[in-house]
Amino acid sequence: MLFLDLFIFLFLQNKDHLVYCSRSNSFLKLSEVFFDFLKQCKENTSLILQIDENLLSLLEKHKIIVNEDDDNNFLLEHEFAENQSSYLYSSFGLVLVPTMACNFDCSYCFEKGKRASKMSDEVIDNLICFIKKHDEAKKLSITWYGGEPLLAVDIIEKILKKIHSEISIPLSGQTIVTNGYYFDSKAIDLFQKYPLKSIQITLDGNKERHNSIRKQKTTGEGSFDRLIENMDKIVKELPETKLSIRVNVEKENLKDYFDLQKKLSERWEGHKIVIYPGFLKIHNDTNTALTCDCIDNVEAHELFFHLRKTKMLDESVYPVLQNTRGCCATVINSYIIGTEGEIYKCWDDVTDNNKIIGYINEEKLTNPSLFYRYVVGSKWYHNEECMNCFFLPICRGQCACYRLRNMYENGKYNLCQCAQKTPNLLNETLEYWYDNQIENKK
Ligand code: SF4
Ligand code: SF4
Ligand code: SF4
Repeated sequence: MLFLDLFIFLFLQNKDHLVYCSRSNSFLKLSEVFFDFLKQCKENTSLILQIDENLLSLLEKHKIIVNEDDDNNFLLEHEFAENQSSYLYSSFGLVLVPTMACNFDCSYCFEKGKRASKMSDEVIDNLICFIKKHDEAKKLSITWYGGEPLLAVDIIEKILKKIHSEISIPLSGQTIVTNGYYFDSKAIDLFQKYPLKSIQITLDGNKERHNSIRKQKTTGEGSFDRLIENMDKIVKELPETKLSIRVNVEKENLKDYFDLQKKLSERWEGHKIVIYPGFLKIHNDTNTALTCDCIDNVEAHELFFHLRKTKMLDESVYPVLQNTRGCCATVINSYIIGTEGEIYKCWDDVTDNNKIIGYINEEKLTNPSLFYRYVVGSKWYHNEECMNCFFLPICRGQCACYRLRNMYENGKYNLCQCAQKTPNLLNETLEYWYDNQIENKK
């Protein structure tokens, strides 16, 4: 028996009648009569038998009409691809926190008030043993994170030296998330020797706003000018490293992003930089939802659509098929290692003792349930809503950390990350793409 696929969407573009299939990420132009007929087929599948043989095979090829097992088989195939990439031992990813200390005092910092600890030599030795134990890995990637990691540049150097001299797994790449204040000549020298793939530095909006938030803990002095000077050095001295500048915005300062995007992309034209908006996650008092000052998912997706369309961000406007949706929390061979050698799965959990899953010098996990919840329980195929969702093939999935908060901690977070789930955005995206295809063919 034949059916209209679960993953199709019929829409009108000016006078054109189109059918889009998220499973094949393609669409076909239809006659008005056939468009209306397909709509009727949705209600009454027996009408499909009236479709001419050649047309039917075209529709089957594009997965617009499928047989009864087809969607289930597709979901199984999708699940298999997800598992293959989640349970891969050949890639080993570590986020290393050499220090929890920070020179800034951002009001929203989730690490506020935590102990300003640093990795000791003993923890470094344990870390090297921990890496050696992952000998099935064919490549190792590292991200430096904090606190402010560059307050522990000596520790970073020590770890890198040991990795290069004692570890046989090749270091396939390293990146750093830094506040940028200490990106001085010492840091530049280190990363000329051990090149970085990318550096992420955050600005908290325009100079005035940034200086009111990202200020020196001890003197209250703002940091905007110094960060710009340091970024000047980075683009000059580390030209092969991508500089990602995250501009934090809330509803009230969205304009700052556009101003900075223009100014900084002109300043560093021709260099490997990307300037993108970051959305602060400010939680309510009970830690169950975001406050209304935050930019919500719908607003974020609309903004990204605009930035892609106007080429301010070099990303596809058209939906992209997502065969896998992993992050550090949901794949088996990625960990975040804190200063005491404690292990976390999610970046947002760092410093939360309840979210520690184990320690690098211990054989057994101390909190295996949390590990399984992240790696297995958060998968889309355990989620009824995703299993029946038209957007699944083009959706980047839900953030596991917030899904677990909703499941186990009374969270009320909006989890759908799919840009196309924003009202009307799928039409707009497809219309834009269709118009451009037509335009390109003229
Ligand atoms: S720079 Fe980062 S770690 Fe430091 S206070 Fe600000 S948010 Fe926290
Ligand atoms: S679960 Fe969410 S917050 Fe945690 S690392 Fe993954 S994407 Fe980031
Ligand atoms: S996360 Fe939301 S949009 Fe994405 S597949 Fe699941 S239900 Fe659909």
